[in-house]
Amino acid sequence: MKFSDLGLAEPFSRAVADLGYEIATPIQAKAIPIVLEGRDLIGCAQTGTGKTAAFTLPMLDLLIRSLPESEQNEQRQPKRPPHPKGSRPKPRPIRALVLSPTRELAAQIGASLDRYGKHTALRNTIVFGGVSQFNQVKALRHGVDALIATPGRLLDLMNQGHIDLSKVEILVFDEADQMLDMGFLPDLKRIVKKVPARRQTLMFSATMPDAIRELAQEWLTRPASVEV
Ligand code: AMP
Repeated sequence: MKFSDLGLAEPFSRAVADLGYEIATPIQAKAIPIVLEGRDLIGCAQTGTGKTAAFTLPMLDLLIRSLPESEQNEQRQPKRPPHPKGSRPKPRPIRALVLSPTRELAAQIGASLDRYGKHTALRNTIVFGGVSQFNQVKALRHGVDALIATPGRLLDLMNQGHIDLSKVEILVFDEADQMLDMGFLPDLKRIVKKVPARRQTLMFSATMPDAIRELAQEWLTRPASVEV
């Protein structure tokens, strides 16, 4: 199926065309329309199938639709003089959260969000452990629409009051089986408790053991299921 037939907004079809993608991979063709409808989704897919674009493209599309038009496109925003102290507008809240087992995968997802969202004003950042949190906290202060995180560092920063998940509309678990294998289940449970119950949830996993099916049952609402 062609990308142009998937119903993505113009900035995203343009970003995809810039990259030379013409035909959607099977997971993209199946998942993108479902996510755009606002449905929960459980996807069984390995890395290399185009799974990252399958969730990042419609996620960005949903995020941009709910922004006021004046904030959708970076270029269209008039240059304003610096805000006097105290009158700075509130940074936008985190509306999408992507959980990833490793920093490498988190970095790949972040790079995808940059590529696919480049014709929009949407911002993202990545938080992961093993490095100083200083720059991560600085990036968060500017306000991000989408946050990609490994569970341990995310909880740390939440506990310190640097991250508020109360406005999250879309929650994504990427490589859910790997997160369980790495012992992140208790962290994931704590994180899910802080995300609004009314949300769209996507879960991707390379394998579907019973533990993943049970979690999907608990955390997803009538999910569509996609396998490639
Ligand atoms: P992923 O499985 O999401 O990690 O994607 C694997 C690689 O395929 C990445 O380098 C993507 O940039 C590339 N890719 C994803 N979707 C497409 C597509 N529809 N056409 C061509 N390349 C793609």
